[in-house]
Amino acid sequence: SELANMMDVSVNEIISACMSLGMMVTMNQRLDGETLQIVAEEFGYGVEFVSADVTEAIEEEVDQEEDLSPRAPIVTVMGHVDHGKTSLLDYVRKANVIAGESGGITQHIGAYSVELEQGGMMTFLDTPGHEAFTAMRARGAQVTDIAIIVIAADDDVMPQTKEAISHAQAAGVPIVFAINKIDRPGANPEKVKETLAQMNLLVEDWGGKIQSQDISAKSGQGVNELLEKVLLESELLDLKANPDRNAAGSVVEASLDKGRGYLSTILVQNGTLKIGDYILAGQYSGKVKAMLDERGHRVEEAGPARPVSVLGLDGAPQAGDKFVVMDDEREAKSIASKRTQLQREQSARSQKNLTLEEIGRRLAIGDFQELNVIVKGDVDGSIEALSDSLQKLSTDEIQVNIIHKAVGQISESDILLATASDAIIVGFQVRPSASARKLAEKEQVDVRLYSIIYDAINEIRDAMEGMLSPEV
Ligand code: GDP
Repeated sequence: SELANMMDVSVNEIISACMSLGMMVTMNQRLDGETLQIVAEEFGYGVEFVSADVTEAIEEEVDQEEDLSPRAPIVTVMGHVDHGKTSLLDYVRKANVIAGESGGITQHIGAYSVELEQGGMMTFLDTPGHEAFTAMRARGAQVTDIAIIVIAADDDVMPQTKEAISHAQAAGVPIVFAINKIDRPGANPEKVKETLAQMNLLVEDWGGKIQSQDISAKSGQGVNELLEKVLLESELLDLKANPDRNAAGSVVEASLDKGRGYLSTILVQNGTLKIGDYILAGQYSGKVKAMLDERGHRVEEAGPARPVSVLGLDGAPQAGDKFVVMDDEREAKSIASKRTQLQREQSARSQKNLTLEEIGRRLAIGDFQELNVIVKGDVDGSIEALSDSLQKLSTDEIQVNIIHKAVGQISESDILLATASDAIIVGFQVRPSASARKLAEKEQVDVRLYSIIYDAINEIRDAMEGMLSPEV
């Protein structure tokens, strides 16, 4: 069907062309190179095979163990609306300013680094919330090392708290809970911990392994202890990078500044970025003319885990695009322009995300081991029953993972999570919101709606057995 789309002929014409070559194919089947060429010629097309290095990341230099040194952790703050994410980020920004540094953090550049009172550096992504986190992940950037999930102690675990937990877990990022607003009269941190325990998330006070800290983002009480726990978590991760190599990392945000041109905040994840380096970021490239830190100071270089605003790219890459420093300027330009072209073509045709139909194809070529599913439903009972049954469909070949389940309509955040985790969404007695439907169409996420549990289980079982008949 992809080939049919590219050549603007019907799928049936392609299928019969294959039949005349003695091949019985379905619309979802992958054709080998030779068949592609023969079939395309029948319709008057030539085939050019584009090498994979244009679409995939440029091959990474592998670092030797002895070249690696410890780097600061990169932290994202997530949680339910109004539980205090912004307040916590603001407090940390104000309270921790590098000693002797003139002026505090004045610029909002999407990320900032602080030197902690207790020693050590920490970098915060200043775009709170799991949506930003997962949107970056959907573009291939795994930037966050540790997630702080804020829960208001005068409230409880709320729907977006659960989402944040699922999003962090789906990314394999360790969580530290910040139980906030303990200065408030109605605050009851124990109740929050109890709810977490009921969700099988045992914090240390409750005999579990997950760290949590009671805080007040307003007065700052407990915030140092929280950061210490984050540092402890980061020590366990043994985060390292090689500062003596060409820089590579991810784009945090980008904008067009009227006077100065494109301004892109990037986070260096490995190597050291220097003025004059030539970088390739997503579909854009350019020479680093100037770099600014979060204090508005010009800097000459930026090492691992440092965020900086860069001037010099010829466009605004998207949050989550990866960047690399290239020695060869011409090559960087040519890759950038091929990416632009490829993206234009691909957005017109190919299937980016997993669909139930796609499962059969991936099974056939043997690159399928896990089926990630997001379950949304109208009542808790049916969600649990459906999730359990789906999980039980796991076989030796395919593991079914329920990466998120919750009551409520299918939201944009669910679609983002599906994109980032290559998951399908199963809705039971619920529908997507209008904006979620649009995003699902754009991202081509498979959203399946059911009103009978049995139907959902059957259809997914069939897909897993490679038996689902393609929808024509
Ligand atoms: P966000 O939506 O998660 O970013 O939440 P905000 O940081 O905007 O906080 C929501 C509201 O809660 C604001 O009015 C804050 O002033 C208030 N707030 C946040 N943290 C605390 C706290 O520790 N104590 C008290 N009393 N209020 C807080």
